[in-house]
Amino acid sequence: MTTLIELNPAGALLQWFDHLQVQLPWRGSRDPYRIWLSEIMLQQTRLAVVESYYARFLERFPTIEALAAAPLDDVLKCWEGLGYYTRARNLQRCAHAIVNEHHGQFPTTAEALQNLPGVGRYTAAAIASIAFNQRIAVLDGNVMRVLARLTDLAEDITEPRAQERLWQIAESLLPTTRPGDYNQAVMDLGRLICVPRRPNCEACPLQQQCRAFAHHTTHQRPVKKPKAERKPMNAVAAVIRDEQNRVLIAQRPTDGLLGGLWALPGGFCEPEEAMEDALQRLLRTNLKLEISVSQQMAAATQDLTHLRITLRAFACQIIAGTPEARGVAAFAWVSETELDQYSFGKADREVVNALSQWQPRLFAE
Ligand code: SF4
Repeated sequence: MTTLIELNPAGALLQWFDHLQVQLPWRGSRDPYRIWLSEIMLQQTRLAVVESYYARFLERFPTIEALAAAPLDDVLKCWEGLGYYTRARNLQRCAHAIVNEHHGQFPTTAEALQNLPGVGRYTAAAIASIAFNQRIAVLDGNVMRVLARLTDLAEDITEPRAQERLWQIAESLLPTTRPGDYNQAVMDLGRLICVPRRPNCEACPLQQQCRAFAHHTTHQRPVKKPKAERKPMNAVAAVIRDEQNRVLIAQRPTDGLLGGLWALPGGFCEPEEAMEDALQRLLRTNLKLEISVSQQMAAATQDLTHLRITLRAFACQIIAGTPEARGVAAFAWVSETELDQYSFGKADREVVNALSQWQPRLFAE
């Protein structure tokens, strides 16, 4: 087991942190609402993307009360393009819990924060240490990489045992003063210096203590088994217009994949199912419509955590029935200009944007 007896990164790290003064829109704030929002947005999303969303989101929802009072549709619309929409739904569930059960005040300890929807061990520790100065360590992907290199950890960090070990290391290295600044300093170091490929060890304040540097193993750390390939899935969508040329769209059920977002009506094909059959089945089940399917109009792909979705949209006509919201949360007929007011997932938005450019094929191929 790695001994940590001579590791003491806090002094050098805090000095580096104070000198660098990284400018981020939430940096320096002790407001738990702002810190929480930044941490949720930063999960699985690049910093440069988050910065623009963060400002807009705060403008629209300046307080936890404003976020709790907003319709979910508005929250999703503000989140559109950030991906991982469970975060947006949990954000609002969490806002409801804070307003209704905590009188609008964030709990001040990591233990209590972890009981809130969508707030895991890492996020709770980040809020508690940065906003409330609680002495508690954080461990996200950046911190894991720094600590695995600092201690030259040879275990696979995707394994729970190694992660528990890293939590212990993180706790043991935490200084008694300025825990929030120290946590932010480790995260900054992982983001700016101790990056996944080609860590900039020459500029690193921890070089003299770093065991991977001393052992020439920085490029072998952290040990990580390769991610499983995403499962390919075919999805289909129907482009149906009414006599006013409005397009039929449907809202996904709140609890499912991309829940609460709008889409052209459709869904996933079963294995071996023809796309036309899938569309007819889905429209029958979800909207009680019988349709005929003609030309493909647009296609797009979207990667989710475990899935690679290829979405194809087809021009369709209603043969029988009027829409009823059976397997969807709601439906609407909207003009192409109104489509912008609704929140769509990435592939759905691409397909919807392509509709205005589409030219029908006059002859069969
Ligand atoms: S010396 Fe290199 S590998 Fe070690 S913590 Fe610093 S940047 Fe990372």
